[in-house]
Amino acid sequence: MFQVAIDGPAGAGKSTIAKILAEELGFIYVDTGAMYRAMALSCLRNGIDVEDKEAVVEHCKQRKVSLNYENGEQQVLLDEENVNAYIRTEEVSQATSAISIYEGVREKLLNLQQQLGQEHNVVMDGRDIGTNVLKDAQVKIYLTASVQTRAKRRYEELVKKGMECNLKEIEEDIKERDYRDMHREIAPLKQAEQAVYLDSSELAIEQVVEKIRKIIEDRKNL
Ligand code: C5P
Repeated sequence: MFQVAIDGPAGAGKSTIAKILAEELGFIYVDTGAMYRAMALSCLRNGIDVEDKEAVVEHCKQRKVSLNYENGEQQVLLDEENVNAYIRTEEVSQATSAISIYEGVREKLLNLQQQLGQEHNVVMDGRDIGTNVLKDAQVKIYLTASVQTRAKRRYEELVKKGMECNLKEIEEDIKERDYRDMHREIAPLKQAEQAVYLDSSELAIEQVVEKIRKIIEDRKNL
């Protein structure tokens, strides 16, 4: 199987770029963040305190997370319910980064992610794909951008959706989430040894896609 792993902090453009590449290549796109988000949503809905490790792990162990594809779009199913529409709020983002520090939560999703990587050609994005989930991926990318750029992108995305938001608050939320994702004990966000580092701050989506496309082609021709 051919595996493309894209890691990086929130708002770097991973999912937009991974989706385009997967479609071009005819691979499946796996957004691992969405799986963690589904677990966090379930905790919030059931009133589980995200700081209570035991309660979170116990709750998550009993949930079933799976993926489905509708017109090429990944849908996350939580106990068979499609929860795609509920997992992108700021509240869920923060709860997700809080529960993803727990080993019991990560283990469960790791198995599912590795299985997908074994059964399909994939473009998979997340925080620990190149370092942990798909250690032998043929292509590894670490995609980042300045925190200001990432906050501005998120802000514009939300404004477009008609949601009220504050740029400074978004920037603070992103910083907090980055810090937690990079400093946790298990599978922290960091650049994998063989990963190509790309800063998208000054690049348009198509320029980033072009760079990664070239890296993939070079690998394929090896
Ligand atoms: O990529 P996304 O912003 O949707 O991820 C949400 C959160 O899920 C991240 O901030 C991180 O805490 C967690 N995550 C993770 N490992 C992954 C993907 C996401 O810990 N592979």
